[in-house]
Amino acid sequence: EKRSSKADGKGNVVVSVRVRPDLSGNDVRSDEWLVDGKRSLIGFRGKEAGDYFYDNVFTAHDDNARVYDHMAKRLVRRVMEGYHGTVFAYGMTGTGKTFSMQGTASSPGVIPLAITDIFSYIRETPSREFLLRVSYLEIYNEKIHDLLSMPTGNAPGQNQPQEEIKLREDAKRGVYATPLKEEIVQSPTQLLRVIARGDQARRTASTQFNARSSRSHAVVQIVVESRERMPGGPGDSKRQGLLPGGVRVSTLSLIDLAGSEKAAESKERRQEGSHINKSLLTLGTVIAKLSENKDRPEKDGKHLPYRDSKLTRLLQGALSGNSLVSILCTISVGGSGSNTNETLNTLKFASRAK
Ligand code: ADP
Ligand code: MG
Repeated sequence: EKRSSKADGKGNVVVSVRVRPDLSGNDVRSDEWLVDGKRSLIGFRGKEAGDYFYDNVFTAHDDNARVYDHMAKRLVRRVMEGYHGTVFAYGMTGTGKTFSMQGTASSPGVIPLAITDIFSYIRETPSREFLLRVSYLEIYNEKIHDLLSMPTGNAPGQNQPQEEIKLREDAKRGVYATPLKEEIVQSPTQLLRVIARGDQARRTASTQFNARSSRSHAVVQIVVESRERMPGGPGDSKRQGLLPGGVRVSTLSLIDLAGSEKAAESKERRQEGSHINKSLLTLGTVIAKLSENKDRPEKDGKHLPYRDSKLTRLLQGALSGNSLVSILCTISVGGSGSNTNETLNTLKFASRAK
């Protein structure tokens, strides 16, 4: 049974759907949709009615903490143990991707909750030494921008175009973006501050480029390096106090995807839209294959279309082999801003990923 194997920690792709509450504060009510969190079911009662089952269905009553606990907590722990892990938020603009990933001060989302767990794990694992590096980039129109080396204010001369960021590949590092700033961080506060700086740069860029943030993918990557300390060693971070070799390197990727809606009809928008659709489509294909091949690790993904988009190419290492993936698909039903076709498209994307 798929679901019980997930609970045992064996499945490598977890797909969840989250229903956004009606922002007027009313209960979500719809004749078209049935939302059943207990059975992890979304039912469609319109034309071409059908039932969709997922690993988790979060209703309007589920808060960010519960969402995190069920769809990301285990993955974050596995990353600390040396596996690659990726969390995606997928859905139409306005359905709660950023709310789920970032959250608010009173209701922190996946990113801050993951950061808390990362540092708890480090504290509880004195037998290993950890080194954390963070990067934060944006993919807009198939171009990569480094949010940590972007201007956050409006000082003169700050709007100079950035050096173009390229994807390279080598045997040791796999696929990587360069030149990309990676900050070494030693505390949750420091890590949160770096990400907040990237968010600020993203907002600044967005006011310059017309709603760009809903049309770009925002990618936070935390690289976790660790190695065992020498038994009875000094227990500090001096290299000579550490066992040689046996370094584990893994990456936690936390991704707020571009809005999945069809782009409006202008020439510029059409181009943006085709880039977005292409990368989301490729992502769906890669994840579906990863899901299919989970019992066949010899299928290492060599034939998957990673090169068809910057997003999948960048994530190639994180989307192959024993990596863990958790996708949160956000929808809004039965209220203002809901859109039956877009909701169905999101549910189909989610189903395809299984
Ligand atoms: P997206 O990033 O998908 O475009 P947002 O996360 O910005 O969507 O959400 C749109 C609006 O809905 C925001 O004002 C956000 O605070 C609110 N919102 C989304 N999901 C929830 C939720 N589960 N609970 C409360 N408010 C939410
Ligand atoms: Mg958003």
